Amino acid sequence: MGSLIEAAALDELLRLLKPKYRIYAPVRLPGKGRFSDTDLIGYAEINRSRDIVFNERSYFSPKEILFPVNQTLFYFTESQWREPETDDREILVFLRSCDLEAVKRLDQALLHNGPYPDSYYQEARAKVKFVLMECQEEFEGCFCASMGTNESRDYAFSIRPENGAYLCDVREDLEELFGRLGKPREHEPAFVREHKNPVRLPDNPEAFSEHPFWREYSERCIACGRCNVVCPTCSCFSLQDIFYDDNPKVGERRRVWAGCQIDGFADLAGGHSYRRDKGERMRYKVLHKIYHFKEHFGVNLCVGCGRCDYACPEYISFSRCVNKLAELEDSTKAEANRKLGDTSAAVEVKKDVK
Ligand code: SF4
Ligand code: SF4
Repeated sequence: MGSLIEAAALDELLRLLKPKYRIYAPVRLPGKGRFSDTDLIGYAEINRSRDIVFNERSYFSPKEILFPVNQTLFYFTESQWREPETDDREILVFLRSCDLEAVKRLDQALLHNGPYPDSYYQEARAKVKFVLMECQEEFEGCFCASMGTNESRDYAFSIRPENGAYLCDVREDLEELFGRLGKPREHEPAFVREHKNPVRLPDNPEAFSEHPFWREYSERCIACGRCNVVCPTCSCFSLQDIFYDDNPKVGERRRVWAGCQIDGFADLAGGHSYRRDKGERMRYKVLHKIYHFKEHFGVNLCVGCGRCDYACPEYISFSRCVNKLAELEDSTKAEANRKLGDTSAAVEVKKDVK
């Protein structure tokens, strides 16, 4: 059902939904940007439509609503433990198509990756509905259409700002509310179909695992981990036991985001590490995002949001890296074909000589 809803009516709709839902959207966080006196676009609970930032990409993704940066798993004493109480309300998240597709990748990693689902994620996920924020044009450096994540339709309603009001495509059980507060208006959501800088995936990037290509990143990467924390599909975490100062026999276990580019992530007992070199970490990340995850789950892990390129202080571009791999594959195939051609020509010459 299509609907045109004025800003005041959308505010009323949000107010009516509030007792049932926690509502999250990208908002402007003044002074929280990475440089002094700059703002950050991040996710927070909202009460009114004018708080939603439509015209900028959020620095952090909505992942943190389902999978918090820092989450207490349980509290313990010497003899007992209990899980934290949770908010029973459902969750409504305003997000873009790539981020909606990213949640499906998180589902694979956290719910279907072995015999036991992540129960904390599972509980939050069961409560979530999505509001699709339309992208009428791409943001700088994104490549969702290259990754096939530009068109997601698993939403409760879609939303597009239009002359001070909002155009929506309404589904599920919100039709009655929109029927009451909005006006009927045919509407089909827009999706980005092409990019200024599309990304081309190599067929077999693993063939270049040992290629010197990766050494460039050993020099340039400073292991800050920004690319990991802004990524909507990175789901690694480490565990921390915290003992309270006033009673060191009591405490809590937390999980905290971790990332494969960060020092210590691949360390083992005995002082060993799988990947000390930052170029090796880049290789691990890139191949996981565009190759290994697909081998297990049938879809690429990267959804082409472009956040990692934007966040990297060293101007390391994930998308350029993937394109360079595709170019490397092209030149390797061309060289192999040329050699094959030379060999066939040589055989032809030998035949002629006989
Ligand atoms: S790897 Fe980069 S472009 Fe791909 S989903 Fe993660 S942050 Fe977005
Ligand atoms: S953001 Fe850039 S410098 Fe930081 S860990 Fe990632 S690739 Fe390395």
